[in-house]
Amino acid sequence: MTADAMRLVFAANWKMHLGPSDTRAFMRAFLTHYARRPDRRVIFFPPALSLTTLVDALRDRPDIEPGVQNIHWEDKGAFTGESSAPMARDAGAKVVLVGHSERRHVFGETDDETAKKMAAAVRAGLVPMLCVGEKIEEREAGQTQAVVVRQLRAGTSVIEPHAIAGILVAYEPVWAIGTGKTATPEDASATHQVIRHELTVLVGDKAAAIPILYGGSVNQGNAQALLAAAEVNGLLVGGASLDPEGWSTIVRT
Ligand code: PEP
Repeated sequence: MTADAMRLVFAANWKMHLGPSDTRAFMRAFLTHYARRPDRRVIFFPPALSLTTLVDALRDRPDIEPGVQNIHWEDKGAFTGESSAPMARDAGAKVVLVGHSERRHVFGETDDETAKKMAAAVRAGLVPMLCVGEKIEEREAGQTQAVVVRQLRAGTSVIEPHAIAGILVAYEPVWAIGTGKTATPEDASATHQVIRHELTVLVGDKAAAIPILYGGSVNQGNAQALLAAAEVNGLLVGGASLDPEGWSTIVRT
C-alpha cells in the first residue's frame, strides 16, 4: 500500500451552494481551522463558477485539492451550459466527481455517459472520483451489490488499468444523500469490501491503494464511527461541508 492510500480522504461536495464571495469567506475561515496534516487528503468540489476563487484562496495551501462536480465528456463543442475536463484542468481543478447520484438520478446521466466522463477526465489529467450507490428500492430488493458492481464496471470500462489504479471511488447510497439517513458503519463496510474486491479483479494488488470514500448524511456525530469501519478510507460530504468550522472538525476527526 502506498503512503497516499494511508491518508484519509475528506471531500466536500458543495453542490449548488457557495458562489465566489461565499467561497472566499469560507476558505478564509476554514484555513484558520485546518493546518496541513500529512495523514489527510482534503478535496473541495465547489460549483464551477467558484472554482477559480477557490484555487486563488488555496495559493499557499497546495496540500488541499480543488475539484469540479461535473464535466462533459467532449473536450469542446456546441454544448451550451457545459464545461469540459481540459477547461476544468486549465482553471486549476485536480479532481472531478463523476456519476454523482444527483447527476445520475436528477439529470438522467447513464452508465455509458459516466464511462465517457471517466475517459475525458483521465485524458485531461484530472483524477476522477467515481460515485456509485443504490436507490432505496434497489436496496430493498437486495440489489445493492449488483448495482454498485455494475456502476463500477461501467465507469471503469473505457479506461486503462493504470488509470483505474489512480481513481478514487465514493460509495453513496442514494437514499442516504441529503436525507439525514446514514448507512451503518457495518453496512458501509460490507459494500466497500465488495467494491475493493471488484477493484482487485480489475487492477490486482494496486486496488489496495484506491481510496474508497463513504458518503450520505455524514456529520460530526457519525464521521468517526464511519471512518473506523473496515475499508472506509474517507468521506464525501455535502450538507455538513458547508460550514467551515463544522467541516474542519470533521476533517480533523
Ligand atoms: C453528497 O452530496 O455527495 C452527499 C453525500 O451529500 P450529504 O452529505 O448532504 O448527504
